[in-house]
Amino acid sequence: MDKEQHSPNFEQPMNGTWLVADQCRDCVFRYKDYFRMGDKKIPCSEEDGWKKSSCEIFPYPQSKPPEVQHNTGECEYYEKERQRKK
Ligand code: SF4
Repeated sequence: MDKEQHSPNFEQPMNGTWLVADQCRDCVFRYKDYFRMGDKKIPCSEEDGWKKSSCEIFPYPQSKPPEVQHNTGECEYYEKERQRKK
């Protein structure tokens, strides 16, 4: 085994592409205030919830369909959230 071990450098900005399904941004089934991992409910903000790899239709350990995550296809369950009346 290589003597030099990899150690994470938290001082550096993270590089790489994070898959974000744009279609989920305003879907009623996106996570809004928490997401579920098994029995656990983990808090998240409305700004972050739609970016999670799972949603109410595809709960963990499932994940959103690849074409949705890669923004190459439409989700058959997508339902646009109604805008609140002002
Ligand atoms: S149902 Fe489809 S569009 Fe809606 S949040 Fe889940 S994966 Fe995204």
